[in-house]
Amino acid sequence: MFNIERTTLTEYLIAQRRAHPGATGEFNALILQVAQACKAISRIVAQGALGGTLGALETQNVQGETQKKLDVIADDIFLRATHWGGDLAGMVSEEHDAPIALPRGEVRGKYLLAFDPLDGSSNTDVNVSVGSIFSILRAPRAGRDARAEDFLQPGTRQVAAGYAIYGPSTMLVLTVGYGVAGFTFDPIIGEFYLTHPELRIPAQTREFAINASNARFWEPPVRRYVDECLAGRSGPREADFNMRWIASLVAEAHRILMRGGVFLYPRDQRDPARPGRLRLLYECNPIGLLIEQAGGRASTGREPVLELAPEALHQRIGFVFGSRDEVERIERYHREPIREEHDIPLFHARGLFLHD
Ligand code: MN
Ligand code: MN
Repeated sequence: MFNIERTTLTEYLIAQRRAHPGATGEFNALILQVAQACKAISRIVAQGALGGTLGALETQNVQGETQKKLDVIADDIFLRATHWGGDLAGMVSEEHDAPIALPRGEVRGKYLLAFDPLDGSSNTDVNVSVGSIFSILRAPRAGRDARAEDFLQPGTRQVAAGYAIYGPSTMLVLTVGYGVAGFTFDPIIGEFYLTHPELRIPAQTREFAINASNARFWEPPVRRYVDECLAGRSGPREADFNMRWIASLVAEAHRILMRGGVFLYPRDQRDPARPGRLRLLYECNPIGLLIEQAGGRASTGREPVLELAPEALHQRIGFVFGSRDEVERIERYHREPIREEHDIPLFHARGLFLHD
C-alpha cells in the first residue's frame, strides 16, 4: 500500500476550502501547525520509558493537579509550534492560569487557540491511549493581544476543533465545520492521511461509559439512567448494555466516533462549587463540536453544551455526549420528576449494587 494515493491533511484542507465557498481557509496554516505539534507529541509518547519522560513532577497546574512531565513537554510543544505563524492573537492552555501572550515582535492574528496539550495523562505511565485536544475561535479583536474574556465564547462559535489520539496508531480527528474527518499518521513519511472521511455516530447504542466509583455522588436522573442500563434485558430498557471506562476523554470520544456509545461525566453532588469535572473551553467544547458534526449530541445533561456562555477560562461542567437517542433520553430524565427509588443513595438497601 503506497500512501501516495491517499489524501494528506493538507490536501483535505485545501479541498474543503474549494468545496465550501464561504470557507476562507485562513486557519489552515494554524491547523497544520497544531498537527505538527501532535506529531512531535506522538513521537515522545511513543518512546515511553525510553524517552525518560514518564512520571510526575513536583509541580501542580493552575487546577491543583499534579503535573506529569509529559503535560509540561506537550504544552511547550504546542506553544512552540503555533506562536510564530501570525494567525493567533492568544492561547489558552490547561497548564496555564491566564491566556498566553505571544512573544514580543510576533504578529497578532485573527484566531484564538484553546488546548489541552495532553489529555488523559494519568494513563501515560500505564501505556494506555492519551491525546491532545484543541479548539479554534475567532479573536474579537484581531491583531491585538487576546484578553481572557475574548475566549469566553460559546462552543457554537468554534471555527474548527479536533483532537489527536496517541494509541496503537496516532490519529487526528478534525472538523472545520463540514462534518468530521479522521486522519491516520504514517510515522515513516511523517504525514497524516485521510482514512475516515465522514465519521457518523449511530443514533442508537447499547454501550455506555461512566466512572462508577462516583456513583454515590450522582444526581437522581443519572442514577436512574445507569440503573436502567444495568438492569439489562429484564429492565425497562429491555436490552443488555455494555460498559466501558478508559479515563481518557479523547479515547472515550474516539471510541464513540468510531462505533457509537454514550459517555457521562455528569454534574454530581460531591462539591457544589465544582459542577462537573471536565473543562468547558478546551475539553467539552471541541469534543462537543466533533460529536455534533458527526450527528451525535453533546450536552451538560440538561442542555446543549455548545450553547453555554462560558464564565471562566478553566470552567468545569457536566458533560454527556454520544449517540443522539441516549443523550436525549438522559436530558429527558433531567426534566422529568424524580421517582423516589432514584433518589436513594446507591449503597443503601435498595441502591444500585445491593438490590434487595
Ligand atoms: Mn484533559
Ligand atoms: Mn491535560
